[in-house]
Amino acid sequence: MLDFLKDAANLVFPCTCPGCNRPLLKTEEFICLHCQTNLPNRLNFKNEDLKQRFYGRIQLEEAYGFLLFKNQGLTQKLLHAIKYNGNQELAKELGCLFGVSCQQLSLFSSVDVVVPIPLHKSKYRLRGFNQSALIAEGLVSVLAIEMDNKAVIRKVKTTTQTKKTRAERWKNVDNTFEVVSNHLENKHVLLVDDVITTGATLESCGQTILASGASKISIACLALA
Ligand SMILES: [Zn+2]
Repeated sequence: MLDFLKDAANLVFPCTCPGCNRPLLKTEEFICLHCQTNLPNRLNFKNEDLKQRFYGRIQLEEAYGFLLFKNQGLTQKLLHAIKYNGNQELAKELGCLFGVSCQQLSLFSSVDVVVPIPLHKSKYRLRGFNQSALIAEGLVSVLAIEMDNKAVIRKVKTTTQTKKTRAERWKNVDNTFEVVSNHLENKHVLLVDDVITTGATLESCGQTILASGASKISIACLALA
């Protein structure tokens, strides 16, 4: 937008940072510089801890969770702004920052195709966008990897998983996904999700993709609880 129009719009509807609610400066588009530099990233963590969570559940080539998720923390505020306030540009922007971080850590260099965790079509209709696909869009724009958001569909609407036991959770996501194209055959697939809690969704989706003939699975998750 032309600067003077942006300034005028800002006077009427000031754009605020979804992390701290301070008005955004002209040079800050979706998140203020202060929040951006204070993102609770996990650069100091070895990714082995995330792979360990999936030990015995699914064989992962590489795994990376970018931000630490805490109740009332910055990551939660940003995810809330994406999911419930529909701030789609923020999702892409965080995906880009995620991509830069992956590059710094030399991750995912052997990945062939990126697949965002799909939403069930009824949920997609309701929300109007898939936040994982937007994050993946930002990620692939930096990593220059092909993205495929049509090869996998979500067949079953999953209910909330917070009050289920591990066995019940497993039952809940088993057969949730279906691969509907042969595009992933013999490929190293990078699954992208917004937040990992139990990991059951990624596990189920990854197992389905492996069973359909993909050679390897890696996961990239914007936030890790
Ligand atoms: Zn801020």
